[in-house]
Amino acid sequence: MTKRLTIALVAHDNMKRDLAEWVDWNCKKLLSHRLICTGTTGRIVAETLMSRHNSESANSRFDITMLKSGPLGGDQQLGSMIANGDIDMLIFFWDPMSAQPHDVDVKALLRLATLYNIPTAINRSSADFLISSPLMGSEEYTPVLNDYSSYIERQLK
Ligand code: PGA
Repeated sequence: MTKRLTIALVAHDNMKRDLAEWVDWNCKKLLSHRLICTGTTGRIVAETLMSRHNSESANSRFDITMLKSGPLGGDQQLGSMIANGDIDMLIFFWDPMSAQPHDVDVKALLRLATLYNIPTAINRSSADFLISSPLMGSEEYTPVLNDYSSYIERQLK
């Protein structure tokens, strides 16, 4: 049985078309999970899923939550969800060719995803690998969480 995951989807503007194509291609798999997106990415993902949903008129429903737009705090909202243990996977098509006004937020999001050992795809091919992994949604797999207790309990003078 496949576990229902909470999957975060984010794409920078120049990568949104790529993500929309990827979502379209993987529509059936994504429908069984909960999706959390930054604002503008979410709008595009929702439109893509809607057009599929209508055209296939399947019984499928999708569960999508849109946060604030990335540069307006959406990346930070996602980071906070990761820190709270509310995100199982991050698909983040970031743009390697353009400076972003919220570069520090992008860096913080990727840092938290790494810190909390969240399976993360940073481009289309890694997203393909993640979504087709037999570990995806497997009841038997739980990512190992690092033990930071000695850091938390360290003595400060
Ligand atoms: P957006 O934000 O989906 O609102 O465009 C993406 C990002 O974090 O840059």
